[in-house]
Amino acid sequence: NIAYFKKLHALFTSKRDFANYAISSRSIICTELLTSVLLVKPVAQMYVTKYKNREVIVPKLTKMVTAIIEVLADMLNNAEWLDYDTRKNALNKLNHMEYSFVYPENLFDDTLLIEKDIPPSEPSESFIALFTRLMRNKVTASCARINQPVDKTEWIQPILTSNGFYVTTQNKFHIAIGILESPHFNQNVPDYVTYATLGVISGHEIMHGFDDDGRLYDAAGNKRNWWKTETAEKYVKKTSCYVDQYTKEGVDGQLSLGENIGDNVGMELAYKAYKKVMGNATEPALPGFEHFTVDQMFFLSYANAWCTSLKKEEADPNDPHPYALTRVKMTSTNIEEFSEAFKCPKKSTMNPDDRCSIW
Ligand SMILES: [Zn+2]
Repeated sequence: NIAYFKKLHALFTSKRDFANYAISSRSIICTELLTSVLLVKPVAQMYVTKYKNREVIVPKLTKMVTAIIEVLADMLNNAEWLDYDTRKNALNKLNHMEYSFVYPENLFDDTLLIEKDIPPSEPSESFIALFTRLMRNKVTASCARINQPVDKTEWIQPILTSNGFYVTTQNKFHIAIGILESPHFNQNVPDYVTYATLGVISGHEIMHGFDDDGRLYDAAGNKRNWWKTETAEKYVKKTSCYVDQYTKEGVDGQLSLGENIGDNVGMELAYKAYKKVMGNATEPALPGFEHFTVDQMFFLSYANAWCTSLKKEEADPNDPHPYALTRVKMTSTNIEEFSEAFKCPKKSTMNPDDRCSIW
């Protein structure tokens, strides 16, 4: 309908925005609605069957996450500022942390599909009528779960998303299928790439259980203070280093604190886990990158995963995640091994005297 497009065109100041809207917006909206809101499980079943080999991916991720958890347990055991009881509680929380990868274990249990009893759509049915019908079904199913025991196998986040999630109230994290794509994951690259990408992301999610908000919940995911007052004060003092550091970079240091704790400790955990798993073994160089050391490749792979076409001024100021370039810069600055790998002179931007660290 040309008249419609003419009217629509007048609403856009940029031709590019208009083109984006006209070409892709409807298909993007429909896909998003289907995969994240309306038919989450059936669409995920179809995608998983076609594209992903869970049997290969899960053991690889499990080995990596196990190593990361062991490194964090070592850090907690060696952190002198933790008192005996707080350390015991922290280790208990870590030991009880659960995780699941790729998709929820019950994805193919069709008896749980809330969509199974919905009558098929007639060609005459409008999209809004179908949408309303599916939403009503979804809301009814959600309401039926009130006062029922929590089913931890169920994911409360979209399955087909490029993300990892930590669920504070369940002390559990997920690595969703959507993020198991390059540059975050590729089955055929050396582990130094995988640890730098998905390893840092896994460490990040684990640290959400110990960030400024997550630390207020216990091993079962209940809100309970398990910190001795003096130790909690030390924690706040140590983490305020990140608040100041990121504020100087033009980021809301307090709003982003949880994410920054995740990024910085996540990086440290993934790097140490890689070293621990590899021992004296070595991995081949990637073609064309033979003149880089393994450590240099680790940090380059990490940075590569955060490449974005989004400009800094376009970033959402209310997003607790800092702008991608800031995330890469600060995390690389705070880990000493980065400046060693690239031989950054003392007191240079990437090798400052003052680094932030918690454990
Ligand atoms: Zn996060």
